[in-house]
Amino acid sequence: MIACHVGGCGVTPFDWNQDVIGQVFFATWIVLVIAGVIFHFTAPPAWKQKVWTYATVGVGLLFLAFVYLLGGLLAFYFAAIPVVLITCLNLTTVKFCPQCGALNRSPFIFPVPKFCNKCGSDLDASTEPDDDSRDLRNR
Ligand SMILES: [Zn+2]
Repeated sequence: MIACHVGGCGVTPFDWNQDVIGQVFFATWIVLVIAGVIFHFTAPPAWKQKVWTYATVGVGLLFLAFVYLLGGLLAFYFAAIPVVLITCLNLTTVKFCPQCGALNRSPFIFPVPKFCNKCGSDLDASTEPDDDSRDLRNR
């Protein structure tokens, strides 16, 4: 049950201090950007596609949670459609190279790249080292 405070129904879901939520929102993005940059330059190539999937969904949900806390249900519904669309696009059109870890994305969103623009590796090849070694043993 969502309580309506003095500001009127549909404004914000809780009586939390909006300034504090705004500051937490801002701080969260700074932390996420720094963590993302560190991860991008240090993570092994095989991790990137997996982490990208979870991070993209997680960041989308986090963004919607903040929109809800800052703007209420109406803002949440307004933001939900573009956030879901952007999340789906990011999940389907961004490919990380299993060999060199480069981020591959078409400049026009589609078509989805099939080969790494940095090293030319097949982007649909398995990123699981176990699968590769199993394939080699069966040949
Ligand atoms: Zn590559």
